[in-house]
Amino acid sequence: MAAERMDGADLANRIREEIAGEVSSFVSQTGVRPGLAAVLVGENPASQVYVRNKRKACQTVGIHDVLIQMPAATTQAELLAEVDRLNADPQIHGILVQLPLPTGLDELEVLDRIHPLKDVDGFHAENLGRLASGRPRLVPCTPLGVREMLIRTGIQTRGRHAVVVGRSNIVGKPMALLLLQKGPGGDATVTVAHTATPDLPSVTRQADILVVAAGRPEIVQADWVKPGAVVIDVGIHRKADGSLCGDVSPAVASVAGWLSPVPGGVGPMTVTMLLHNTLLAARLQTQASTPA
Ligand code: NAD
Repeated sequence: MAAERMDGADLANRIREEIAGEVSSFVSQTGVRPGLAAVLVGENPASQVYVRNKRKACQTVGIHDVLIQMPAATTQAELLAEVDRLNADPQIHGILVQLPLPTGLDELEVLDRIHPLKDVDGFHAENLGRLASGRPRLVPCTPLGVREMLIRTGIQTRGRHAVVVGRSNIVGKPMALLLLQKGPGGDATVTVAHTATPDLPSVTRQADILVVAAGRPEIVQADWVKPGAVVIDVGIHRKADGSLCGDVSPAVASVAGWLSPVPGGVGPMTVTMLLHNTLLAARLQTQASTPA
């Protein structure tokens, strides 16, 4: 039997409608419109597309958006000064610095310079530390989107074995931490596999829930998957013919119980969680500036 399709695009549209309503109530209650600044350094074509999509999504829900474009030759000091300026701008509640940065710029220093309450990507050490210690606040958008897909599709995670392939700070690690949290979308028994994991297929075959963020086109084959498993494909790659594929082979659909498509799966959910985080950041900052 073919896997059920976990339609991230449809879900993302429904969540965006909810967020648009919440933005509108927030504006009428506080007089503050949530604002997002996207910082794009250099001319990476994929980054330009990602930033354009994020800005368009902001406009559909009523979030004020600003694009800061900086040349590839920007120095570390210039980029940090721009982050400082945005940290101090009361109209900006969320700052996203599009990665990767051009060679020579120190990404971790830049990400840690963003005010933790404006860190809508959730990459600041304070926000990752809060997630690791069970007090999540602003959580990285891709894993947050995957968790939302699991919850809203009615997938039980509690007590199930989740395997995450990939240990990046952006996807794999925060994904594993979310699945470990107590509560909805969490309470799983979690295994994290990575480049030093021997015999990866024997690990992925144990998964009730398999989240693949390896960045390797179609690495996960049908015989790597337990029959009936929930498979979430985070990977996204452009093939030579111009079409897109994920980290999971389409043949997995004949074995899995659920499979998220590429495109139309995790991607739209990631952008939607950025909108969610921007509204949350605006709420946190408005509370923080309200006298007790
Ligand atoms: P990354 O390259 O930083 O990390 C990949 C991880 O996979 C590494 O930790 C590595 O240990 C592991 N890995 C790589 N090859 C492996 C192998 N053969 N066996 C086992 N583990 C292996 O990538 P990332 O930033 O985490 O992104 C992963 C993928 O997800 C990429 O394709 C990226 O484009 C995609 N992505 C998609 C979205 C989205 O919104 N859809 C968002 C972020 C990333």
